[in-house]
Amino acid sequence: MALVLVLLASARPFQRAGDSAPPIEEKQLSIYGPRVSYSLPVSERNGQDYIALLEALEPFGSVSASVDRGKWKLRFDNLGAEFQRNARLGKVAGKKFGLPSPFVLENNRGLVPLRALPEILALMLGTKTDYHEASRRLFLGGAATRFTTDLREDGLSVKFSSPVNPLISTEPGKLKMTFTRDPVVSSPSTLRPENPLVSSITFSEDNGRAELLVQGKVPLLAQFAAGGKTIDIVPAPSQARNAPPAAPQETATATTAATPATAPITVPPPPTLQSLTAKPQFVVMLDAGHGGDDRGALLSETLEEKGVTLAFARRLRSELQNHGISAVMSRDADVSVPVEQRAAMADAARIAVFISLHATSQGRGVRVYTAMLNSATSKPGAFVPWDTAQTGHVLTSRALASIVKAELSQREIPSTELSAPLKPLNNIAATAIAIEIAPSGADVGSVNATVYQQRIAAAIAEAMVVGRTRVEAER
Ligand SMILES: [Zn+2]
Repeated sequence: MALVLVLLASARPFQRAGDSAPPIEEKQLSIYGPRVSYSLPVSERNGQDYIALLEALEPFGSVSASVDRGKWKLRFDNLGAEFQRNARLGKVAGKKFGLPSPFVLENNRGLVPLRALPEILALMLGTKTDYHEASRRLFLGGAATRFTTDLREDGLSVKFSSPVNPLISTEPGKLKMTFTRDPVVSSPSTLRPENPLVSSITFSEDNGRAELLVQGKVPLLAQFAAGGKTIDIVPAPSQARNAPPAAPQETATATTAATPATAPITVPPPPTLQSLTAKPQFVVMLDAGHGGDDRGALLSETLEEKGVTLAFARRLRSELQNHGISAVMSRDADVSVPVEQRAAMADAARIAVFISLHATSQGRGVRVYTAMLNSATSKPGAFVPWDTAQTGHVLTSRALASIVKAELSQREIPSTELSAPLKPLNNIAATAIAIEIAPSGADVGSVNATVYQQRIAAAIAEAMVVGRTRVEAER
């Protein structure tokens, strides 16, 4: 992902170690930055919550760590942090730093007490932090999505300051919106409106998530509008006096949404010429990152990223074709193609799905990215020109990313889902994701190994088959 982000990290933890009884739900921390949002598992050690410091910093820049006789040294851009195994006193950004409980070093991974993380990140990133300790939600640089509610006789509109992608679930009398990756904030509160449809609206936060619970007097359903910035809550059609026109039905996040059939989530398609004519063919564009003069990351002395992405794109193309899905390539040779041209090619070809491909020598497994269109909190100039072609598609893109992640897990390939403002994802007017392949183990060369690439390609191709209906409903 050398184009816009440099990510260097050791393996991400996916299981929590040391627990004999499986927890009902893993504890997690969500971090919301202006340009990236993600969740990390929280580990308990000696009755305290700990977090892996390298993984917490990784989405913000180049980070690496080394260990020498129990002393753990981390480098992040031009700053450092050092801690000693089982000691409380360390150093962060050149200053003495005391931890509330001892530093934990396990398999060369450095864990710091969760309570110290907001201050460490503030020092390392030079940004202000706002930590909601009870719910483990950490907001950096003023990242926040606020909302207002607008109650009417025929329903309720929740208007957000940035596009959101909650998981929506319903049960009789209740509609619940769960926000994991969106920095939705409000003071925890319950509103009891005088309304024929809605009896209460409650905002709460817990375990790295925010939740908005709407208690209804009639069955309710949610409709996304304004590119994900508005969620309209209306009576389910059987109850509606003036039923809205039928719209294609889809679940919010296909792999995880437990939505009873009685209360579908509907997303009206944009009124384009395409919806009046025959549906275009389902074509996936594979965008092998870098090429020509742009070699991408040097993965090892002999392995350049541009070659790995092209080899993988070709493998994925044949895997898609084996699954009956047409695929085109933004480049099929070692040539330089500007990012803007890649986006223009995608739009001209009226593709259904755009998949940008990258590789890295750092970390393990696969990272699945979707665009982050949180322009309200982006730093001007950091990623210019800011383009929002992806706005109308980001919900479907995130749903597809979740399907890819689920298919990878089925094949026991570790993966992480992230949102970041990546080029050219934010310029693509179609469902768009980016895949970054990291080694399968200690051997960096595995990113280019046939068997490993084949397993990843098979997972992605299967995800396109599973996600196709959802993508086509939006076109
Ligand atoms: Zn790259």
